[in-house]
Amino acid sequence: MQIKVYNTLTRQKEDFQTLQPGKVGMYVCGPTVYKPSHVGHMVGPVIFDTIKRYLSYLDYQVNFVVNITDIDDKLIVESKKQNTTVTELAERVTADYLANLKKLQVTGIDHFPRATHYIGEIQSMIGGLIEKGFAYASMGDVYFDVSKDEDYGKLCNRDPEQLEAGARIEINERKRNPGDFALWKGAKPGEPMWDSPWGSGRPGWHIECSAMSMKLLGESFDMHGGGLDLQFPHHENELAQSESFTGKTFARYWLHNGLMKTGDKKMSKSEGNEIVVTELLKKHQPETLRYLLLTSHYRSPIEYSEDRLLELRRSLESFYRFFDRVKRISGNSFYQVIGKLKHQPTPKGLSAFLGEIYKLRDAFLDAFSDDFNSGGALGTLHEFLNALNRFADQSKIETPEANPEAKVEFLAAVSVFREITQILGLFLEPQEAATAQGNNQLMDGVMTLLIEIRSEARKAKNFALADLVRKRLTELNITLEDRPGETGWRVGP
Ligand SMILES: [Zn+2]
Repeated sequence: MQIKVYNTLTRQKEDFQTLQPGKVGMYVCGPTVYKPSHVGHMVGPVIFDTIKRYLSYLDYQVNFVVNITDIDDKLIVESKKQNTTVTELAERVTADYLANLKKLQVTGIDHFPRATHYIGEIQSMIGGLIEKGFAYASMGDVYFDVSKDEDYGKLCNRDPEQLEAGARIEINERKRNPGDFALWKGAKPGEPMWDSPWGSGRPGWHIECSAMSMKLLGESFDMHGGGLDLQFPHHENELAQSESFTGKTFARYWLHNGLMKTGDKKMSKSEGNEIVVTELLKKHQPETLRYLLLTSHYRSPIEYSEDRLLELRRSLESFYRFFDRVKRISGNSFYQVIGKLKHQPTPKGLSAFLGEIYKLRDAFLDAFSDDFNSGGALGTLHEFLNALNRFADQSKIETPEANPEAKVEFLAAVSVFREITQILGLFLEPQEAATAQGNNQLMDGVMTLLIEIRSEARKAKNFALADLVRKRLTELNITLEDRPGETGWRVGP
């Protein structure tokens, strides 16, 4: 299967070819950990986690790195505001970030390097750039000299003057050219600092990503991702300093994902319309958010609104109802169905129905191979669902007169469906009971009733009934907690 990738660097779709056969090195710029993750922080990880799932399905071995910027001006300012240390703040915010990724089933990231753990690598790279004449020390800082790099601007396809005109560039008498950027920043009193040949200080943001990606993936690697807003200056600078340092191609393919939008505004701190992930997950299930992030092509902006989430939730409900049907038919949960983890060719001699199912699998894989079009791939999920439900209806599979072979065929098709939903990281485990307010009240009412029935049954020494209530609730992933004088409940084991 030939994968096509749109490469920001060449501004065209290219055939995806890895540096080493069967292996992919993938680096995605992660967060600066100074405040809890907002929804925008989840876009890149979900998209690239899905890309990794897909590449792994095609039998690539993917090494996926997302960095954590744990030293930066923003961290220094925020830690002072909160009267804590940069380290404490960074650890707390990183824990929040990692917990949110886990909830969204972003499980494919192999390394989360922290910038402060790579100071040695960063310094040796800066030293090398000075030695090669691409960087200069100036009054305790070190700058990259953009005029020494002939290729500077190639990622954004603009010459340095245009880049400078388009960006707010700090005017600073320590720099030789206005576009030069800091590799090392001399220490200010009260800030975290490390010793260096140029005086004590801390690394600039861009150099962190170059040092960490090259350390973990090698001087040249396959894919570099990040939000569209990172193209300039961050990625342009990463590329310039990395290639000046090694003389080799840094990343072969640059992939930029679209940003979150609410209405016609970008979701950002400056707009004041950011949604904190933990807040959102109080009202919505993580799967609904993951689904939202995959609904459009990764390069397009993602429309965010409360209504949109509710609409997607309704769309997901049709899949959840189907999983109930699978359980009624097979006696087993959809979540226990085994779907193949690696791609295998379409089997020969299929029935008409399974032939249709495998054609849908092809349509799904074609969409995904075309520049990882998750939105197009999601569209085929609904076609899968229609085909599966139609077959179950027509063969009256839930009735005693159903042909046993139809059931076998149906379950074979369900397993193909499972195979492709795994690629999207969807439907991997049951979602907790709906947490929308109306449902909460209803759920509370029903649970109070069940707990009362169980308690009455115990009083009447009908332990079989009491145990049945607990057992059936456990099957629904609801746990009863007997406490002195009362019984509580929670969703989960
Ligand atoms: Zn970066």
